[in-house]
Amino acid sequence: MSDNNEQIENVIILGSGPAGLTAALYAARANLDPLVLEGMQPGGQLTITTEVENFPGFENGIMGPELMEVMKKQVARFGTRFEFDEVVESRLDVWPFELKTANGKTLRARTVIIATGATARYLGLPNETRLQGHGVSACATCDGFFFQGVELAVVGGGDSAAEEAGFLTKFASKVHLLVRRGELRASKIMAKRAMDNPKIEIHWNTEVVDVLGDKQVEGIRVRNNRTGEEADWNQIEGLFLAIGHKPNSDAFRTWLDHDETGYLLTKPDSTYTNVPGVFAAGDIQDSVYRQAVSAAGSGCMAALDAERWLEAREAGEA
Ligand code: NAP
Repeated sequence: MSDNNEQIENVIILGSGPAGLTAALYAARANLDPLVLEGMQPGGQLTITTEVENFPGFENGIMGPELMEVMKKQVARFGTRFEFDEVVESRLDVWPFELKTANGKTLRARTVIIATGATARYLGLPNETRLQGHGVSACATCDGFFFQGVELAVVGGGDSAAEEAGFLTKFASKVHLLVRRGELRASKIMAKRAMDNPKIEIHWNTEVVDVLGDKQVEGIRVRNNRTGEEADWNQIEGLFLAIGHKPNSDAFRTWLDHDETGYLLTKPDSTYTNVPGVFAAGDIQDSVYRQAVSAAGSGCMAALDAERWLEAREAGEA
């Protein structure tokens, strides 16, 4: 990795969701002058949600994008620097650490806080990829509006699928929820909402095996995984995936311990990774809770861990 930047940052924070921004808030207020690389989806996953009712402090809830905007403004007050960039390659075996970015920079830092979150998963069907943005989407909030009065399919059985199916009934004439097992993984309240919604039809043990259409989605091929029976549903004009997320850890996996899915592993009760000086916060290290408020909490922990680690290192203890 070439060294085209002489400056050594105290802390570089990767990601600008609740974890990254909270880490920045704490780091800035500790006079660490943090640099935040916002990533390709500034604000993170909350920017593609609608109403957030479970982030404390908002009596009547708040829209996801607005929450992230307010959070960023709060952080910016304390002088945090933001760059629209992301890390594509890292050297965490040298110190200061080296981070190569998509914009071709090589940044150097004494500590790194990885809060790069997770990205929506797709089924991996060739025609699904080809028709992305042409009727195939993983973000109902972003694209639902384009599907007025038509029939849609949502794949998944978790809270996201239940929530997105409900949201899409605002536009669609009917939403088919395709669940690969015989039950929903979603929480009871979300499952009940989906089941009680007269515009949602749930199809159990049903999988999408192909997406039909030349330039636009003109149907889907589904298979009942109990009977093996296949059918073309030509009335479907939009396919929404809500089958979970992939942790954005590719640039760091060479150096950092991770689980089989790619979630980074942190030491118990801390945000320490296996590399001293590198910390992980938010969804990148949390496959269990995955909430905005838990991500924010771990962002706070990461900044405190980084601050203390720097102090110890300066004192010759780390
Ligand atoms: P999730 O809980 O991991 O659920 C993923 C769903 O997709 C599961 O039902 C899974 O089926 C299904 N699935 C996975 N791969 C599939 C495939 N190849 N084909 C068909 N189906 C497939 O993910 P999530 O719904 O995105 O939720 C993630 C986290 O965020 C959860 O903790 C959730 O509670 C939270 N969340 C909360 C809210 C809210 O409270 N408002 C909203 C959204 C998300 P199986 O069940 O068979 O594994």
